[in-house]
Amino acid sequence: MQSSTAQDAVSAESAEPHSFSSKEQPKKVLTTVETERYGVRWKGKYGTWIEPDIVDAVDPYIYVHGPYCPHDGHGLRVGTVTKQVVRTDTAWICDACDRTYSYPEEGLSDESRIEYEMKQQLKKQRAQAQATD
Ligand SMILES: [Zn+2]
Repeated sequence: MQSSTAQDAVSAESAEPHSFSSKEQPKKVLTTVETERYGVRWKGKYGTWIEPDIVDAVDPYIYVHGPYCPHDGHGLRVGTVTKQVVRTDTAWICDACDRTYSYPEEGLSDESRIEYEMKQQLKKQRAQAQATD
């Protein structure tokens, strides 16, 4: 069962921090995962899109949301910071602690890179869980 939809429509301009993922939130969350990338924290919900009695029948996926402040976990907003009087840069701003994190210059091309890291973590978690048997 292959489900390859055209999901590369995520534009770097949609800088709304919390609608980052092009996917729907999973209805049934199996586990959560976190990773750091671009200097900020991302969270992922690993689950399935239906409320299943039949989890085995559907492929779980990762829903990425964020970013969050690595310092206090507060949700970051996108804004601009002034650097050296004449220059303004796009940045992630934490309203809780006033820290700013520079927004990647090339933009957030897509979520697959973060997803990939999360998948590696999930794999590791699973391997560890099996090792404790
Ligand atoms: Zn903060």
